Amino acid sequence: MRYESFIIVCMPNTPVHDFLTIASGIVLAPGIYGVLYEANVANQTAVVITTLILTAHVVSGVLFSPDLDLDSRIHKRWGMFFYIWLPYKWIIPHRHFWSHGLVLPPLLRLGYFFGMIILTIFLIERIAASAGIDLPIVHNSVAWAIITWIGQNEMVSVCIAIGFISGSAVHSIADWLHSGGKKLIRTLFVPRRGSQVARKGIDFARPSIRWLFDPFSTEHPSHY
Ligand SMILES: [Zn+2]
Repeated sequence: MRYESFIIVCMPNTPVHDFLTIASGIVLAPGIYGVLYEANVANQTAVVITTLILTAHVVSGVLFSPDLDLDSRIHKRWGMFFYIWLPYKWIIPHRHFWSHGLVLPPLLRLGYFFGMIILTIFLIERIAASAGIDLPIVHNSVAWAIITWIGQNEMVSVCIAIGFISGSAVHSIADWLHSGGKKLIRTLFVPRRGSQVARKGIDFARPSIRWLFDPFSTEHPSHY
């Protein structure tokens, strides 16, 4: 298969991203377990850590996808709770660092989700109160219970954060490979004799990765 055909087949639409999330999880799991095993972590603990990271990795890629900034297909997966992500879609710039960046954006989505859950409980309480229904006020206690739980379960929280970052990173890197990065792949793996690339040597500067790291970048990945 020619390189160009391969790229077209592997265009990172939602099914391709789902496949990459699952496939990378399958590859990552034994790697994580192996590192923990080599570090003499107890077998049971290593299994728990690996499972936590793998689960967070898949949930991040499939449900908390960077494409929540636009893709209605991901929104549909949330069913009746799709509304949670509407403000996110409206506020976050499409195909930008704040959705597709490597480390901060997946953690931002987690924080946003937490905030929307608390806001939803708060609104239900207010609507019930205005309708004369006496509901217990729990939004504050639920928020503090979650924050306290995170503080008391550091290992679990860190594993979830790592999995969320890795699941999102697979998506963002796939988008990068399809947009700016494919120039680099073409340069590295398909240099043509007598072509401009062959005459000038490898051009590492052209494929931009700024939008993966820079909140102020005006560049973005391409999508289909
Ligand atoms: Zn994307």
